[in-house]
Amino acid sequence: MPVITVKDLHKSYGNIEILKGIDLDISKGEVVVVIGPSGSGKSTFLRCLNLLEQPTSGEILFEGESITAPKHDINSTREKMGMVFQNFNLFPHKTVGQNIMIAPRTVKKQSASEVEVIANKLLQTVGLSDKKDVFPNQLSGGQKQRIAIARALAMQPHVMLFDEPTSALDPEMVGEVLEVMKKLAHEGMTMVIVTHEMGFAREVGDRILFMDEGRIMEQGSPEEVFNNP
Ligand code: ADP
Ligand code: ADP
Repeated sequence: MPVITVKDLHKSYGNIEILKGIDLDISKGEVVVVIGPSGSGKSTFLRCLNLLEQPTSGEILFEGESITAPKHDINSTREKMGMVFQNFNLFPHKTVGQNIMIAPRTVKKQSASEVEVIANKLLQTVGLSDKKDVFPNQLSGGQKQRIAIARALAMQPHVMLFDEPTSALDPEMVGEVLEVMKKLAHEGMTMVIVTHEMGFAREVGDRILFMDEGRIMEQGSPEEVFNNP
């Protein structure tokens, strides 16, 4: 069974149709990289997947359950889909450790000692164990994004969504963030990644989706998509 199934997904803002019928199955452990020109609907598609945007029509199944059905509990799905944004969205008045622990504490009601263990492990994963007690403004952009990834992972999501995670970074910091994402991919995380990093797409992507004007115009393995004349 696919982790995510998207059926004839449409999204309009007013009378402007942005997504014009997306169909897709995403398997467990699959790394799907979404590429395409600016304004083609990549970000809107990602935001529909975890219901930050309400699709206009169509259906999304997550682990076999329709999450677009009217009675569906959106929060229970969001907990299982971690999302990382271009601009980090860390809480500025909380330390790095607090940023990572807040959702498991408040949403999942996990104990302080339990989330402490999770946070320490995740800080190690992203290579920032020494930053636990500092505030986000004391971090570089690349470090902030690694913490944003750790914070999303703290909820132990089944899927991770990345919306241009390196686009706001100085070039010398892009690599450290892509390394963390690559590590996740190798650990078997199911991921949907919107990015302009073609080297990364080619190396880490299991499947490339090329979006244009609200449709998937082409998809396939990196070899198929990038070597197509
Ligand atoms: P991409 O991520 O491929 O650059 P987006 O999904 O961000 O594309 O945007 C696709 C189109 O939808 C753009 O034309 C954008 O202006 C429009 N759009 C995105 N969000 C909104 C919104 N909240 N209201 C109206 N139009 C929007
Ligand atoms: P961005 O890539 O998001 O622009 P910067 O690397 O420019 O991030 O860093 C953002 C802010 O954090 C800047 O004011 C910078 O001086 C500061 N900064 C960066 N690295 C450190 C650090 N290791 N310790 C303290 N402050 C830092």
